[in-house]
Amino acid sequence: MNNPSFASRQIGDFTVTALSDGNMAASLDLLSGIEAADAAQIQRDAGLAEPGNIHINCYLIRGQGRIILVDSGTGGLNNSGGKLGENLRSAGVAPENIDTVLLTHAHPDHIGGLLDAQAQPVYPNAEIHIHPLEAEYWRDDSKMMQVAEHRQRNFLLARRMLTAYAAKLKFFDGAEIVKGIRSVWLPGHTPGHSGYRIDSGEQSLLIWGDIVHFPHIQSAQPGVSIAFDCDPVQAENTRKTIMAQAARENLLVAGMHFGEPGFAHILPLTSPDNTVGYHVAYPKS
Ligand SMILES: [Zn+2]
Ligand SMILES: [Zn+2]
Repeated sequence: MNNPSFASRQIGDFTVTALSDGNMAASLDLLSGIEAADAAQIQRDAGLAEPGNIHINCYLIRGQGRIILVDSGTGGLNNSGGKLGENLRSAGVAPENIDTVLLTHAHPDHIGGLLDAQAQPVYPNAEIHIHPLEAEYWRDDSKMMQVAEHRQRNFLLARRMLTAYAAKLKFFDGAEIVKGIRSVWLPGHTPGHSGYRIDSGEQSLLIWGDIVHFPHIQSAQPGVSIAFDCDPVQAENTRKTIMAQAARENLLVAGMHFGEPGFAHILPLTSPDNTVGYHVAYPKS
């Protein structure tokens, strides 16, 4: 049975459920383009008790006979997250039931849950869909040599994942992945960073990956970047463009770091100095 405590939306043929992987300790110091005190004030105004905490969501999509997982959480790496497995079971899904994993990108908090302690696939029957540029980036030795040593571990993890699922990897080719679901390239955070858009029946949903890590701060000020962005300028441009589109279309949005409500609308904020900003409108609970 479905656990009623999981946020869920019906999008045409598909039921989309936000499944928490838990939290990841972070710091507002990772942000650039904003004073730390201003960032902290936005978090306080939003009523957040732990302003430096980042919550991790994964999404389960069921419909058309398919059971699809979008991202896999940390798998417990770095003492963060790791709750997806038990939440998946509470939602009535065993790992072997997953037929497709859609990846937004290959950071550890999105792919860590794909491998067990022996680096074997946790989802043995799943095809893994990913942007070709994402695989290319993490496999590139010259890119790995450009980053600090602790970030090189991310390359090694991505490579272990790509190897473990080598026979099951599917690279985007522009076609629909499933009828009504297609990938949306949102580069900058990583080169192949992508969202997934569902258009089914009269409903639409955009799962936009890591467009924001601190939703209140980065929607109010879309120019704010985070240290995890591979290309902060491209990430900022992508964030501004997709936020404007989401607001214009009144699109329902889901994000991996949106917090437990899982789904929200992006509303334009009017500010006295005409800077462009948005408000993340979560559903009233
Ligand atoms: Zn990321
Ligand atoms: Zn992330």
